[in-house]
Amino acid sequence: MDLIYLDHNATTPVDPEVADIYAEHLRKSFGNASSVHAFGREARVVLENARDSIARFINCQPAELYFTSGGTESDNISIIGAARQLKTRRNHIVVAATEHHAVLEPAEHLHEREGFDFDIVPVDEQGYVPADELRNLVNDRTAIVSIMHANNETGVIQDIKTLAGIAHEKGALFHTDAVQSVGKIPVDVKDLDVDMLTLTAHKIYGPKGIGGLYVRQGIKITPLFFGGSHEKKRRPGTENVAGAAAFARTLEIAGERMETDHGQISELADYFIHEIDRRLQDVRLNSPRENRIPQTVNYSFGHTEGEALILSLDLEGIAASSGSACTSGATEPSHVLSAMNIPREYALGAVRFSLGRSTTREQLDRVLDVLPGIVERLRSMSPAVNRPGSPS
Ligand SMILES: *Cc1c(COP(=O)(O)O)cnc(C)c1O
Repeated sequence: MDLIYLDHNATTPVDPEVADIYAEHLRKSFGNASSVHAFGREARVVLENARDSIARFINCQPAELYFTSGGTESDNISIIGAARQLKTRRNHIVVAATEHHAVLEPAEHLHEREGFDFDIVPVDEQGYVPADELRNLVNDRTAIVSIMHANNETGVIQDIKTLAGIAHEKGALFHTDAVQSVGKIPVDVKDLDVDMLTLTAHKIYGPKGIGGLYVRQGIKITPLFFGGSHEKKRRPGTENVAGAAAFARTLEIAGERMETDHGQISELADYFIHEIDRRLQDVRLNSPRENRIPQTVNYSFGHTEGEALILSLDLEGIAASSGSACTSGATEPSHVLSAMNIPREYALGAVRFSLGRSTTREQLDRVLDVLPGIVERLRSMSPAVNRPGSPS
């Protein structure tokens, strides 16, 4: 049985060309980029070329781009670093209800352990942050606002420029987690008007463990790590030169393929959505039909459990993911779907299918062939169902 991978928002396979560049630099450019000798200088050139290339990709200066280990770290540095830096004048943080845990948890930590005030902006039923809601929360004590560009669970794309403008009116910094948008849709830090932006390689066919953080020139943040002068002391630690080179190539390829990939994946996703709607009843599309990163198709299958669906799909060789989390024995719906006010019986039955470059129509057809049977079986097993047409 050929396995079908529909979990590209969790991570992607490494592009073969990127893997070659990664391996080549692991062998060749092993020098410490801070060393003054020839080995170090060679590594430094590779690192700075990668920085130039990635900076160009997001339209910033190379000096504004810092290498990190990935999205989680960049989110943490942004939220914690900016908050601590500004604390004496501004001790308030605002994040959206649908943020990744790598944003939510540092904000909660700062609130619980370091005395920051913390507000969560609600979203509407489509997952958008309404500008008015944000305007109501941001004040002249707000240090940082963080709202993600494209959501990892639903794919919804926020109007970052408008939201950043609201933060700036009050003198607050604005950070966006662009992990799911970089390489899939155009991301231009000037155009988005953000002060900080998080990116990572492994969601876009690059290796794991390498990411970046854009920090607008002139903005000061308190580092989380100490112990060296790498990355201008903002992120000390011997640089991952091979990872940086691979990341740069990852984005170059993403840029070259962006239009083709976007078109092809949109078409497949639209077909998949159309067919699910046609073949199954009591379902609900949680992703917006328009204005989303097209690879993300999040569906609720009413009166089922997402985790059970994922396991049944896995038995058929199909990899997808559910947003729900199993905490202390009980399944809880995803915080993203809960924030969108999706009724609990639907939020619990959510599955995220995330398509990629290698996804084919034949693969989707196989999913569509097995899905109705799986859903039907789970519904007939579920004790608490009270669905239309079922004997109560
Ligand atoms: C995957 C993901 C992250 C975490 O990135 P890592 O590089 O895995 O640490 C952060 N934010 C979003 C939106 C993600 O999808």
